[in-house]
Amino acid sequence: MTATLLDGKALAATIEASLRDEVDAVTTASGRPPRLVVVLVGDVAASASYVTAKARAAARVGIDAEVVRAPGSADTAALVGLVRGIARGDQGAVDGILVQLPLPRQVDTTAVLDAVPADLDVDGFHPENAGLLSQGRPRFIPCTAAGVQRLLVDAGIPTAGRRAVIVGRSDIVGKPLALLLASRGRGGDATVTLCHSHTQDLAEHCRSADILVAAVGQPGLITADMVRPGATVIDVGINRVEGSEGSRLVGDVDFAAVSAVAGAITPVPGGVGPLTVAMLLANTLLAAELRIGRR
Ligand code: NDP
Repeated sequence: MTATLLDGKALAATIEASLRDEVDAVTTASGRPPRLVVVLVGDVAASASYVTAKARAAARVGIDAEVVRAPGSADTAALVGLVRGIARGDQGAVDGILVQLPLPRQVDTTAVLDAVPADLDVDGFHPENAGLLSQGRPRFIPCTAAGVQRLLVDAGIPTAGRRAVIVGRSDIVGKPLALLLASRGRGGDATVTLCHSHTQDLAEHCRSADILVAAVGQPGLITADMVRPGATVIDVGINRVEGSEGSRLVGDVDFAAVSAVAGAITPVPGGVGPLTVAMLLANTLLAAELRIGRR
């Protein structure tokens, strides 16, 4: 079997096109475009390229995005102060704030993320937004998790009553995705297993999955023998590996071997990544709509 490729890039372009009109409407109604501020700390090349991709995507749909840089030597207090200043509007009115992760080692990431007010938290990491998601009344859903669910819905892959196995339990990907797939309604109602580094018999859990999601950060972790024939495999992982022809990006899934077994699979790059960006734009639009009472 050769798996159907789930094209996240194409879906992200469709989502962007549908957001453009809504952004225009909000811009007209509120007298200014929705505004997103992205905080980039230090000079890690991968983070800088993600931030550039987010800012460019925002510009494409008419969202005003600004990148605020801080030095890699910044401490927790400085970054908390910076985020609070942005939230107060020191740099102009703002609808959404995103702090690009990871932050440097000396920084308390939770303290910095907590400085983003819940109503500007377009990444969906604030405890209030996490709580609303866990209670089944989401406001800002973490972008990658939302993107994976959207991809499944768009591809017509049923989730209700299906077994979904997620490998990776981070607060930003695995955990919110588990909540989403287990929630009631469209793109939900799955029976979810959440695996992590202490999981015993990982391969056995994975083989039970109708929908297998890898969100770990280990190239080649998911091999063909861990995948039930016909299963849907979503590869969230982004890993840079060195090869004979220089470095390239790969996911957590052994793509070549697994695509011969799976029914559908996401590529890396071009799978979940573009959807993460599209969902960020959707969350920023939502924040602006909530601000002016349109939602
Ligand atoms: P984290 O490092 O926060 O979490 C990794 C998770 O994987 C943890 O729950 C960890 O378990 C688990 N884990 C580690 N080793 C194993 C193992 N051998 N078997 C089973 N589980 C294991 O990562 P993130 O969630 O932030 O990111 C995961 C991957 O997704 C990364 O490659 C990241 O770059 C990528 N990513 C991609 C995005 C996209 O847009 N496509 C967006 C965000 C992330 P434990 O909890 O026990 O430590």
